[in-house]
Amino acid sequence: MSAELVIKDLHVNVEGKPIIKGLNLTIKQGEIHALMGPNGSGKSTLANTLMGHPNYHADAGEVTFGGVNILELEPNERAKLGLFLAFQYPTTVPGVSMANFLRMAVSAVRSHNSNGGGTSEMIPMREFRRELREKMKRLGVDESFARRYLNEGFSGGEKKRAEILQLAMLEPKIAILDETDSGLDIDAVRIVGESVNRLIGPDLGVLVITHYPRLLSYIRPQFVHILLDGRIVESGGWELAELLEAKGYDPIREKYGI
Ligand code: ADP
Ligand code: MG
Repeated sequence: MSAELVIKDLHVNVEGKPIIKGLNLTIKQGEIHALMGPNGSGKSTLANTLMGHPNYHADAGEVTFGGVNILELEPNERAKLGLFLAFQYPTTVPGVSMANFLRMAVSAVRSHNSNGGGTSEMIPMREFRRELREKMKRLGVDESFARRYLNEGFSGGEKKRAEILQLAMLEPKIAILDETDSGLDIDAVRIVGESVNRLIGPDLGVLVITHYPRLLSYIRPQFVHILLDGRIVESGGWELAELLEAKGYDPIREKYGI
């Protein structure tokens, strides 16, 4: 059964100020969507709300995933349902290798019967290693990367590689990638774009959130949405991203008087 992420009339206030003001969006497995918008339009607020960041709460509207209301769920419960949000994972874990970290993450997300205290059965080492090797090969990541310590001395590009490797290992149904400032790092943009391309298939839906059209030239989303002042003002295809690349956000702002 194919899972859908359905956002209906979502409103989010941050510190008493309305930031997301009635947002509607449906993403199905197998679909690639891009959400674009100028700085401050509410892109990260949306991503934070979807991941269950404690400081971001929906004030109205609903978000369901596979028919389940996820707004009341903890981030790890959302992950178990098959939602991937890159930044829900720790940014630095001293002394933990990529491979160990990934094994813990995969075990936590796949275990269906966590045994009470939050610990979960670890996926067998052999099976894990085979899978990791296969995924690294698919993504063109060198095997030595698995032995690196998580985020220790990682370049912008390597952090992105780690994030995408996590995505590949967790095999989510829908992945939400908030490309905050990575657009400034061309290497990172290319890595995300090329890797997402290698993972795209009928089982994966992706929402790429970005300010920068350049990332999209690698991914070529089927659906492009423009967020302006907390609302999706336009939805279309690739041509919308091209328009932004050529003209920037000013014509859109003028059109909507924002
Ligand atoms: P984008 O990701 O599109 O640049 P954000 O969602 O980060 O936009 O921000 C949208 C608006 O919400 C901005 O005006 C920002 O100042 C405000 N905002 C977001 N998060 C917070 C926060 N934690 N505290 C105060 N204001 C916030
Ligand atoms: Mg942002």
